[in-house]
Amino acid sequence: MLVGVPKEIKNHEYRVGLTPEAAREYVTTGHEVIVESGAGLGISKTDEDYEKIGAMIVDTAEEVFARADMVVKVKEPQPNEWVQLREGQILFTYLHLAPDPDQARGLMESGVSAVAYETVTAPDGSLPLLAPMSEVAGRLSIEASAQASHKNNGGRGILMGGVPGVLPAKVVVIGGGVVGTQAARMAVGLGANVEILDRSLPRIRELDDMFQGRATTRYSNAGTIEDAITEADVVIGAVLVPGASAPRLITRDMLPLMKHRAVLVDVAIDQGGCFETSKPTTHENPTYLVDDIIHYCVANMPGAVPHTSSYALNNATLPFGLALANKGIAACEDDPHLALGLNVHQGRIVNPAVAESLGF
Ligand code: NAD
Repeated sequence: MLVGVPKEIKNHEYRVGLTPEAAREYVTTGHEVIVESGAGLGISKTDEDYEKIGAMIVDTAEEVFARADMVVKVKEPQPNEWVQLREGQILFTYLHLAPDPDQARGLMESGVSAVAYETVTAPDGSLPLLAPMSEVAGRLSIEASAQASHKNNGGRGILMGGVPGVLPAKVVVIGGGVVGTQAARMAVGLGANVEILDRSLPRIRELDDMFQGRATTRYSNAGTIEDAITEADVVIGAVLVPGASAPRLITRDMLPLMKHRAVLVDVAIDQGGCFETSKPTTHENPTYLVDDIIHYCVANMPGAVPHTSSYALNNATLPFGLALANKGIAACEDDPHLALGLNVHQGRIVNPAVAESLGF
Protein backbone atom coordinates (compact mmCIF):
# COMPACT_ATOMS: atom_id res chain seq x y z
CA MET A 1 0.00 0.00 0.00
CA LEU A 2 1.11 3.60 -0.62
CA VAL A 3 0.90 5.47 2.68
CA GLY A 4 0.91 9.27 2.59
CA VAL A 5 1.80 11.80 5.27
CA PRO A 6 0.85 15.45 4.64
CA LYS A 7 2.15 18.32 6.76
CA GLU A 8 -0.38 19.34 9.44
CA ILE A 9 -2.00 22.70 8.69
CA LYS A 10 -4.07 23.45 11.81
CA ASN A 11 -2.98 26.56 13.72
CA HIS A 12 0.24 25.87 15.69
CA GLU A 13 0.05 22.14 15.00
CA TYR A 14 3.58 20.80 14.79
CA ARG A 15 2.99 17.06 15.24
CA VAL A 16 3.38 14.63 12.38
CA GLY A 17 1.29 11.56 11.49
CA LEU A 18 4.32 9.29 11.07
CA THR A 19 7.71 9.85 12.70
CA PRO A 20 10.63 8.56 10.60
CA GLU A 21 10.90 5.64 13.04
CA ALA A 22 7.25 4.68 12.49
CA ALA A 23 7.53 5.24 8.72
CA ARG A 24 10.46 2.81 8.74
CA GLU A 25 8.20 0.08 10.16
CA TYR A 26 5.81 0.54 7.19
CA VAL A 27 8.71 0.40 4.71
CA THR A 28 10.19 -2.74 6.27
CA THR A 29 6.74 -4.35 6.18
CA GLY A 30 6.71 -3.83 2.40
CA HIS A 31 4.73 -0.60 2.05
CA GLU A 32 5.69 2.61 0.29
CA VAL A 33 5.61 5.87 2.24
CA ILE A 34 5.38 9.36 0.75
CA VAL A 35 5.85 12.39 2.97
CA GLU A 36 5.15 16.04 2.19
CA SER A 37 8.37 18.05 2.30
CA GLY A 38 8.81 19.63 5.73
CA ALA A 39 6.15 17.48 7.45
CA GLY A 40 8.62 16.43 10.19
CA LEU A 41 10.23 19.81 10.86
CA GLY A 42 8.06 20.41 13.94
CA ILE A 43 9.82 17.47 15.61
CA SER A 44 13.21 18.44 14.15
CA LYS A 45 13.12 15.68 11.50
CA THR A 46 14.27 16.69 8.04
CA ASP A 47 13.27 15.35 4.62
CA GLU A 48 16.64 13.54 4.62
CA ASP A 49 15.71 11.74 7.85
CA TYR A 50 12.65 10.32 6.05
CA GLU A 51 14.61 9.53 2.87
CA LYS A 52 17.21 7.65 4.92
CA ILE A 53 14.59 5.13 6.07
CA GLY A 54 13.27 4.65 2.53
CA ALA A 55 10.36 7.11 2.39
CA MET A 56 9.88 9.39 -0.63
CA ILE A 57 9.50 13.14 -0.29
CA VAL A 58 6.92 14.97 -2.40
CA ASP A 59 6.57 18.74 -2.72
CA THR A 60 2.89 19.25 -1.98
CA ALA A 61 0.03 17.99 0.16
CA GLU A 62 -2.03 17.71 -3.06
CA GLU A 63 0.38 15.05 -4.31
CA VAL A 64 0.08 13.12 -1.03
CA PHE A 65 -3.75 13.19 -1.14
CA ALA A 66 -3.86 12.31 -4.85
CA ARG A 67 -1.46 9.35 -4.67
CA ALA A 68 -1.90 7.77 -1.23
CA ASP A 69 -4.05 4.69 -0.62
CA MET A 70 -4.03 5.63 3.06
CA VAL A 71 -3.47 9.13 4.45
CA VAL A 72 -2.08 9.20 8.01
CA LYS A 73 -2.51 12.49 9.84
CA VAL A 74 -2.83 13.89 13.34
CA LYS A 75 -5.68 16.43 13.35
CA GLU A 76 -9.05 16.25 11.64
CA PRO A 77 -8.90 17.23 7.95
CA GLN A 78 -9.53 20.91 7.31
CA PRO A 79 -12.09 21.89 4.59
CA ASN A 80 -9.39 22.24 1.90
CA GLU A 81 -8.11 18.78 2.86
CA TRP A 82 -11.40 16.88 2.98
CA VAL A 83 -12.27 17.93 -0.58
CA GLN A 84 -9.12 16.11 -1.73
CA LEU A 85 -10.10 12.78 -0.17
CA ARG A 86 -11.73 10.16 -2.37
CA GLU A 87 -13.61 6.89 -2.51
CA GLY A 88 -11.47 3.83 -1.88
CA GLN A 89 -8.97 5.83 0.15
CA ILE A 90 -8.42 5.33 3.90
CA LEU A 91 -7.98 8.28 6.25
CA PHE A 92 -6.40 7.43 9.62
CA THR A 93 -6.36 10.38 12.05
CA TYR A 94 -8.21 12.13 14.89
CA LEU A 95 -11.65 13.25 13.65
CA HIS A 96 -13.79 14.32 16.65
CA LEU A 97 -16.89 14.29 14.42
CA ALA A 98 -19.58 14.44 17.13
CA PRO A 99 -19.50 18.26 17.49
CA ASP A 100 -18.51 18.88 13.84
CA PRO A 101 -21.36 18.15 11.37
CA ASP A 102 -19.67 20.13 8.55
CA GLN A 103 -16.63 17.88 8.61
CA ALA A 104 -18.89 14.82 8.89
CA ARG A 105 -20.78 15.85 5.73
CA GLY A 106 -17.52 16.66 3.93
CA LEU A 107 -16.12 13.20 4.69
CA MET A 108 -19.40 11.48 3.74
CA GLU A 109 -19.45 13.29 0.39
CA SER A 110 -15.80 12.43 -0.33
CA GLY A 111 -16.49 8.67 -0.15
CA VAL A 112 -13.36 8.14 1.99
CA SER A 113 -13.21 5.41 4.66
CA ALA A 114 -12.24 7.41 7.74
CA VAL A 115 -10.87 5.65 10.82
CA ALA A 116 -10.82 7.95 13.86
CA TYR A 117 -8.10 7.43 16.45
CA GLU A 118 -10.38 8.54 19.28
CA THR A 119 -13.01 5.82 18.90
CA VAL A 120 -10.71 2.79 18.50
CA THR A 121 -11.12 0.71 21.66
CA ALA A 122 -9.05 -1.74 23.74
CA PRO A 123 -10.46 -5.01 25.16
CA ASP A 124 -11.11 -3.28 28.53
CA GLY A 125 -13.22 -0.62 26.78
CA SER A 126 -10.55 2.11 27.12
CA LEU A 127 -9.44 4.27 24.19
CA PRO A 128 -5.80 3.36 23.41
CA LEU A 129 -5.25 5.97 20.69
CA LEU A 130 -6.75 8.81 22.73
CA ALA A 131 -4.85 7.89 25.88
CA PRO A 132 -1.36 9.12 24.90
CA MET A 133 -2.67 12.55 23.87
CA SER A 134 -4.85 12.66 26.95
CA GLU A 135 -1.74 12.01 29.04
CA VAL A 136 0.01 14.91 27.34
CA ALA A 137 -3.02 17.26 27.57
CA GLY A 138 -3.63 16.37 31.22
CA ARG A 139 -0.08 17.19 32.23
CA LEU A 140 -0.04 20.30 30.04
CA SER A 141 -3.32 21.58 31.51
CA ILE A 142 -1.58 22.26 34.82
CA GLU A 143 1.36 24.01 33.14
CA ALA A 144 -1.17 26.14 31.19
CA SER A 145 -3.24 26.97 34.25
CA ALA A 146 -0.12 27.83 36.28
CA GLN A 147 0.94 30.27 33.54
CA ALA A 148 -2.56 31.76 33.28
CA SER A 149 -2.61 32.26 37.08
CA HIS A 150 0.38 34.60 36.95
CA LYS A 151 -0.49 38.27 37.46
CA ASN A 152 1.56 39.38 34.45
CA ASN A 153 -0.62 37.09 32.31
CA GLY A 154 -3.85 38.56 33.71
CA GLY A 155 -4.28 35.90 36.40
CA ARG A 156 -4.99 36.01 40.13
CA GLY A 157 -1.28 36.00 40.89
CA ILE A 158 -1.17 32.73 42.76
CA LEU A 159 1.60 30.14 43.01
CA MET A 160 0.32 26.56 42.62
CA GLY A 161 2.17 25.14 45.59
CA GLY A 162 2.00 28.21 47.83
CA VAL A 163 5.00 28.49 50.18
CA PRO A 164 5.46 27.45 53.79
CA GLY A 165 2.90 29.46 55.75
CA VAL A 166 0.77 30.36 52.68
CA LEU A 167 -1.95 28.10 51.33
CA PRO A 168 -1.47 26.50 47.91
CA ALA A 169 -3.87 26.93 44.97
CA LYS A 170 -6.99 24.79 44.95
CA VAL A 171 -7.23 22.75 41.76
CA VAL A 172 -10.55 21.05 40.92
CA VAL A 173 -10.41 18.34 38.28
CA ILE A 174 -13.78 17.30 36.79
CA GLY A 175 -13.44 13.86 35.19
CA GLY A 176 -10.87 11.48 36.66
CA GLY A 177 -9.98 9.51 33.53
CA VAL A 178 -6.66 9.73 31.71
CA VAL A 179 -6.58 13.55 31.36
CA GLY A 180 -7.88 14.10 34.88
CA THR A 181 -5.47 11.67 36.51
CA GLN A 182 -2.44 13.17 34.79
CA ALA A 183 -3.62 16.69 35.63
CA ALA A 184 -4.09 15.69 39.26
CA ARG A 185 -0.65 14.07 39.37
CA MET A 186 1.00 17.25 38.08
CA ALA A 187 -0.99 19.48 40.42
CA VAL A 188 -0.19 17.24 43.40
CA GLY A 189 3.46 17.30 42.31
CA LEU A 190 3.44 21.11 42.41
CA GLY A 191 1.98 21.03 45.90
CA ALA A 192 -1.54 22.22 45.05
CA ASN A 193 -4.66 21.26 47.01
CA VAL A 194 -6.34 18.88 44.55
CA GLU A 195 -9.91 17.58 44.35
CA ILE A 196 -11.13 15.18 41.64
CA LEU A 197 -14.81 14.75 40.73
CA ASP A 198 -16.06 11.81 38.70
CA ARG A 199 -19.41 10.12 38.30
CA SER A 200 -18.04 6.58 38.11
CA LEU A 201 -17.82 5.10 41.61
CA PRO A 202 -15.37 2.33 40.56
CA ARG A 203 -13.12 5.04 39.10
CA ILE A 204 -13.44 7.18 42.24
CA ARG A 205 -12.31 4.17 44.30
CA GLU A 206 -9.30 3.65 42.03
CA LEU A 207 -8.36 7.33 42.28
CA ASP A 208 -8.71 7.29 46.05
CA ASP A 209 -6.37 4.32 46.19
CA MET A 210 -3.93 5.84 43.71
CA PHE A 211 -3.53 9.22 45.43
CA GLN A 212 -3.48 7.91 49.00
CA GLY A 213 -4.92 11.12 50.41
CA ARG A 214 -2.76 13.50 48.35
CA ALA A 215 -5.88 14.34 46.32
CA THR A 216 -9.48 14.07 47.53
CA THR A 217 -12.37 12.66 45.52
CA ARG A 218 -16.05 13.55 45.25
CA TYR A 219 -18.98 12.17 43.29
CA SER A 220 -19.82 14.54 40.42
CA ASN A 221 -23.23 16.19 40.15
CA ALA A 222 -24.43 19.77 39.72
CA GLY A 223 -24.44 20.35 43.48
CA THR A 224 -20.94 19.05 44.18
CA ILE A 225 -19.53 20.86 41.15
CA GLU A 226 -21.07 24.15 42.33
CA ASP A 227 -19.61 23.62 45.76
CA ALA A 228 -16.13 22.67 44.51
CA ILE A 229 -15.69 25.56 42.07
CA THR A 230 -16.55 28.17 44.70
CA GLU A 231 -13.12 27.68 46.32
CA ALA A 232 -11.17 26.84 43.16
CA ASP A 233 -8.27 28.80 41.70
CA VAL A 234 -8.11 26.37 38.77
CA VAL A 235 -10.76 24.04 37.31
CA ILE A 236 -9.76 21.41 34.77
CA GLY A 237 -12.61 20.06 32.60
CA ALA A 238 -11.62 16.51 31.68
CA VAL A 239 -14.84 14.56 31.13
CA LEU A 240 -15.61 12.22 28.27
CA VAL A 241 -18.74 10.41 27.20
CA PRO A 242 -17.28 8.27 24.38
CA GLY A 243 -18.44 9.28 20.89
CA ALA A 244 -20.74 12.00 22.25
CA SER A 245 -20.49 15.74 22.77
CA ALA A 246 -19.23 16.69 26.22
CA PRO A 247 -21.93 17.40 28.85
CA ARG A 248 -22.13 21.08 29.93
CA LEU A 249 -21.19 20.83 33.59
CA ILE A 250 -20.43 24.47 34.46
CA THR A 251 -23.11 26.82 33.18
CA ARG A 252 -22.74 30.57 32.78
CA ASP A 253 -24.91 31.24 35.81
CA MET A 254 -22.39 29.32 37.98
CA LEU A 255 -19.48 31.63 37.06
CA PRO A 256 -20.38 34.31 39.66
CA LEU A 257 -19.80 31.62 42.32
CA MET A 258 -16.12 31.50 41.37
CA LYS A 259 -13.18 33.68 42.48
CA HIS A 260 -12.33 36.56 40.14
CA ARG A 261 -9.72 35.53 37.59
CA ALA A 262 -9.89 31.86 38.50
CA VAL A 263 -8.84 29.70 35.54
CA LEU A 264 -11.09 27.25 33.67
CA VAL A 265 -9.16 24.85 31.42
CA ASP A 266 -11.60 23.01 29.16
CA VAL A 267 -9.59 20.05 27.89
CA ALA A 268 -12.84 18.48 26.63
CA ILE A 269 -13.20 21.35 24.14
CA ASP A 270 -12.41 18.92 21.30
CA GLN A 271 -15.70 17.20 22.14
CA GLY A 272 -17.56 20.52 22.24
CA GLY A 273 -16.45 21.58 25.73
CA CYS A 274 -17.81 20.87 29.21
CA PHE A 275 -18.34 24.50 30.24
CA GLU A 276 -21.21 26.49 28.71
CA THR A 277 -18.96 29.50 28.10
CA SER A 278 -16.19 27.53 26.33
CA LYS A 279 -15.26 28.20 22.72
CA PRO A 280 -12.22 26.73 20.98
CA THR A 281 -9.01 28.79 21.16
CA THR A 282 -5.56 28.38 19.65
CA HIS A 283 -2.04 28.32 21.05
CA GLU A 284 -1.61 31.81 19.56
CA ASN A 285 -4.48 33.24 21.67
CA PRO A 286 -5.18 30.53 24.23
CA THR A 287 -7.27 32.44 26.79
CA TYR A 288 -10.22 34.82 27.01
CA LEU A 289 -12.38 36.21 29.79
CA VAL A 290 -16.06 35.61 30.50
CA ASP A 291 -17.48 37.30 33.61
CA ASP A 292 -13.89 37.81 34.84
CA ILE A 293 -13.10 34.09 34.70
CA ILE A 294 -10.11 33.08 32.55
CA HIS A 295 -10.97 30.42 29.96
CA TYR A 296 -8.26 28.29 28.30
CA CYS A 297 -9.83 26.12 25.56
CA VAL A 298 -7.09 25.03 23.17
CA ALA A 299 -8.44 22.18 21.07
CA ASN A 300 -5.05 20.73 20.14
CA MET A 301 -3.09 21.12 23.35
CA PRO A 302 -0.51 18.37 22.57
CA GLY A 303 0.47 20.34 19.45
CA ALA A 304 2.50 22.62 21.73
CA VAL A 305 4.86 19.78 22.66
CA PRO A 306 5.20 17.97 19.31
CA HIS A 307 8.36 16.09 20.19
CA THR A 308 6.75 14.35 23.15
CA SER A 309 3.33 13.97 21.60
CA SER A 310 4.29 12.77 18.09
CA TYR A 311 6.26 9.90 19.59
CA ALA A 312 3.59 9.10 22.17
CA LEU A 313 0.95 9.07 19.40
CA ASN A 314 2.99 6.96 16.98
CA ASN A 315 3.76 4.40 19.69
CA ALA A 316 0.01 3.82 20.01
CA THR A 317 -1.18 4.14 16.38
CA LEU A 318 1.52 2.02 14.72
CA PRO A 319 0.03 -1.47 15.19
CA PHE A 320 -3.41 -0.32 13.97
CA GLY A 321 -1.92 1.62 11.05
CA LEU A 322 0.11 -1.38 9.98
CA ALA A 323 -3.00 -3.60 10.14
CA LEU A 324 -4.84 -1.14 7.84
CA ALA A 325 -1.86 -0.98 5.49
CA ASN A 326 -1.58 -4.78 5.38
CA LYS A 327 -5.25 -5.65 4.94
CA GLY A 328 -6.92 -2.43 3.81
CA ILE A 329 -10.26 -1.50 5.39
CA ALA A 330 -10.95 -5.26 5.73
CA ALA A 331 -8.69 -5.03 8.83
CA CYS A 332 -11.80 -3.70 10.59
CA GLU A 333 -13.62 -6.98 9.91
CA ASP A 334 -10.87 -8.89 11.75
CA ASP A 335 -10.63 -6.54 14.72
CA PRO A 336 -13.81 -5.32 16.45
CA HIS A 337 -11.79 -2.68 18.33
CA LEU A 338 -10.42 -1.17 15.13
CA ALA A 339 -13.92 -1.48 13.61
CA LEU A 340 -15.22 0.95 16.25
CA GLY A 341 -12.67 3.42 14.90
CA LEU A 342 -14.36 3.37 11.50
CA ASN A 343 -16.51 6.52 11.59
CA VAL A 344 -17.25 7.16 7.91
CA HIS A 345 -17.58 4.46 5.23
CA GLN A 346 -19.34 4.38 1.86
CA GLY A 347 -20.81 7.82 2.45
CA ARG A 348 -22.35 7.00 5.85
CA ILE A 349 -21.50 7.55 9.51
CA VAL A 350 -21.04 3.96 10.69
CA ASN A 351 -19.97 4.37 14.33
CA PRO A 352 -23.32 4.19 16.21
CA ALA A 353 -22.40 6.62 19.03
CA VAL A 354 -21.03 9.19 16.58
CA ALA A 355 -24.08 8.84 14.30
CA GLU A 356 -26.45 9.25 17.24
CA SER A 357 -24.60 12.29 18.53
CA LEU A 358 -24.66 13.92 15.08
CA GLY A 359 -28.31 12.99 14.58
CA PHE A 360 -27.48 11.59 11.12
P1 NAD B 1 -11.46 9.18 29.86
O1 NAD B 1 -12.54 8.38 29.26
O2 NAD B 1 -10.19 8.53 30.27
O3 NAD B 1 -12.01 9.93 31.15
C1 NAD B 1 -13.22 10.62 31.17
C2 NAD B 1 -13.73 10.59 32.58
O4 NAD B 1 -14.85 11.48 32.64
C3 NAD B 1 -14.23 9.21 33.03
O5 NAD B 1 -13.57 8.84 34.24
C4 NAD B 1 -15.74 9.43 33.24
O6 NAD B 1 -16.26 8.66 34.30
C5 NAD B 1 -15.75 10.92 33.56
N1 NAD B 1 -17.04 11.57 33.41
C6 NAD B 1 -18.00 11.41 32.46
N2 NAD B 1 -19.04 12.20 32.72
C7 NAD B 1 -18.75 12.90 33.86
C8 NAD B 1 -19.41 13.86 34.63
N3 NAD B 1 -20.63 14.29 34.30
N4 NAD B 1 -18.80 14.35 35.74
C9 NAD B 1 -17.56 13.92 36.10
N5 NAD B 1 -16.88 12.99 35.41
C10 NAD B 1 -17.46 12.49 34.30
O7 NAD B 1 -11.20 10.40 28.81
P2 NAD B 1 -9.85 11.23 28.66
O8 NAD B 1 -8.93 10.49 27.77
O9 NAD B 1 -9.37 11.63 30.01
O10 NAD B 1 -10.36 12.51 27.83
C11 NAD B 1 -11.06 13.57 28.45
C12 NAD B 1 -11.38 14.65 27.42
O11 NAD B 1 -10.18 15.30 27.01
C13 NAD B 1 -12.00 14.12 26.11
O12 NAD B 1 -13.02 15.00 25.69
C14 NAD B 1 -10.86 14.16 25.13
O13 NAD B 1 -11.31 14.26 23.79
C15 NAD B 1 -10.18 15.42 25.60
N6 NAD B 1 -8.82 15.65 25.10
C16 NAD B 1 -8.55 16.91 24.67
C17 NAD B 1 -7.29 17.23 24.23
C18 NAD B 1 -7.02 18.66 23.82
O14 NAD B 1 -5.97 18.91 23.23
N7 NAD B 1 -7.87 19.60 24.12
C19 NAD B 1 -6.29 16.26 24.19
C20 NAD B 1 -6.60 14.96 24.64
C21 NAD B 1 -7.88 14.65 25.10
